[in-house]
Amino acid sequence: MADIYDKAKRSEIMSCVKHTRTAPEEKVASLLKKLKIKYRRNVKSLPGQPDFVIKSAETVIFVHGCFWHAHTNCKLARRPKTNKRFWQQKAIDNRKRDLRKNRLLRKKGWHVITIWQCRLRKTDQVLKRLKRMLS
Ligand SMILES: [Zn+2]
Repeated sequence: MADIYDKAKRSEIMSCVKHTRTAPEEKVASLLKKLKIKYRRNVKSLPGQPDFVIKSAETVIFVHGCFWHAHTNCKLARRPKTNKRFWQQKAIDNRKRDLRKNRLLRKKGWHVITIWQCRLRKTDQVLKRLKRMLS
């Protein structure tokens, strides 16, 4: 699969990452609202700036785009054929960073939930999981 964007567009997309709220994040926000769970968003004082922080359950949630965070065996995480090595390295770096910040958070006593973008296609299952983990 070739990259569907040219270089300029791809770097524009990349520079947007982490600055804007994504559709998957909005989905998770609406699920948390449904469960009547109070949360804070993009808490800068915690490692990795978690997307959601639920203090009452000592839990943080990261919503991961499958491509950027290199979801294993996921169609959405397929690398573009051009610049393959670059994308591979990028994925490895992101993965390492994710693991590092998860470890830091756990050390501080937080539970860490990772929700992958592709899982949000079945919101019922994510809702069940959140309910189980947050209550
Ligand atoms: Zn995925």
